[in-house]
Amino acid sequence: MNFHSLTIKDLYKETNDSVVISFDIPEHLKKDFTFSAGQYVTIRKTLNGEEVRRAYSIWKAPYEDEISILVKKIENGVFSTYANQELKKGDTLEVSTPQGNFKLMPSQGKPIVLFAAGSGITPIISIVKQQLKVNNNNKVVLFYVNKTMDDIIFKDELEQLQKENPDTLVVHHLLTREENKDHLFSGRINKQKCKEFVEKGVLDLKAGDYYMCGPEQMILEIKEFLLDHKVNSDSIHFELFTSSSENKASTDFVDHAFVTVILDDDEFEFEYNISEASSLLDAGNEHGFDLPYSCKGGVCCTCKAKVIEGSAKMIKNYALSEEEVAQGYVLTCQTHPTSERLVVSFDE
Ligand SMILES: Cc1cc2nc3c(=O)[nH]c(=O)nc-3n(C[C@H](O)[C@H](O)[C@H](O)COP(=O)(O)OP(=O)(O)OC[C@H]3O[C@@H](n4cnc5c(N)ncnc54)[C@H](O)[C@@H]3O)c2cc1C
Repeated sequence: MNFHSLTIKDLYKETNDSVVISFDIPEHLKKDFTFSAGQYVTIRKTLNGEEVRRAYSIWKAPYEDEISILVKKIENGVFSTYANQELKKGDTLEVSTPQGNFKLMPSQGKPIVLFAAGSGITPIISIVKQQLKVNNNNKVVLFYVNKTMDDIIFKDELEQLQKENPDTLVVHHLLTREENKDHLFSGRINKQKCKEFVEKGVLDLKAGDYYMCGPEQMILEIKEFLLDHKVNSDSIHFELFTSSSENKASTDFVDHAFVTVILDDDEFEFEYNISEASSLLDAGNEHGFDLPYSCKGGVCCTCKAKVIEGSAKMIKNYALSEEEVAQGYVLTCQTHPTSERLVVSFDE
């Protein structure tokens, strides 16, 4: 993973507790920072003597040719508090090149449906804009949940997009802490709400693709509802910012292993002791390697690597597809060896 030091060319408050940060990309790095709608960058920063890495989705669409992120302030959050309270225009940050599997898919002439909650709008609005740009005959329906009207991120931009695409874009705002005249658009999105949407004809179960970004519970309920209603799992795409699920340790993990890591065509070896390591990623980095990572929670795919020899298992995985897992890919932040000899490659 390549980090580049980028200068902040613009920074403004989008809502009371979120800040938009746009970066100046020098001409020679423009190619490195090309991205697909829905992807994210990782920010690396040392705060209070400790290096932190955090992922942030790019909310601009690829055609806008700009790297811009929105950071929502989380209570006691290390980086989001710093970004909202201290960062200013002209400061520099270490920013990775764009990454991630959550991307706009070719829609094959069919409508797309998107669900977002709070700051989960960032990758979703990028997908909405790109879709409207590349194929503005396809209907785009967005369900967006916020606590109150004042919390709606990119409210003006969404209104503008609706004005520009009156026949294509439909945005349904849902509020959880303010009365909405229409009961249908009050409260969170769960299975019951999805059922009501279908009954009222606002949720199309024959769309081409479904995209979601928001709390885990919302994503799980919508996904289950869609699967129960015969939507193909390949058409359901989601991005999680954080996961609350319990860790499930495997009894197959070995106590001790010899591990070889391949990174940037170099090979490194180390001995792995499960009692000392929280994951394969941490063990490698504690041995002095610079293995790539971002969320360390199994929700992004920055630390993805492929098992070349031996075997390993993940504790949780919200980022790799079944196909990738079958091919031997693992999220190393969630992985422990299940064989005494293990070779993993970050280059595959
Ligand atoms: C692929 C990806 C894309 C992301 N894109 C965005 C984005 O566009 N905008 C954005 O604001 N954030 C985004 N995030 C979340 C972001 O990476 C950080 O997790 C978040 O900003 C909190 O970091 P922090 O250092 O302030 O909090 P930390 O110090 O890491 O955490 C403080 C506490 O808050 C909890 N927490 C962490 N994240 C969240 C969350 N999102 N909601 C509720 N509680 C949380 C932690 O579990 C911890 O208890 C994304 C995450 C991923 C994996």
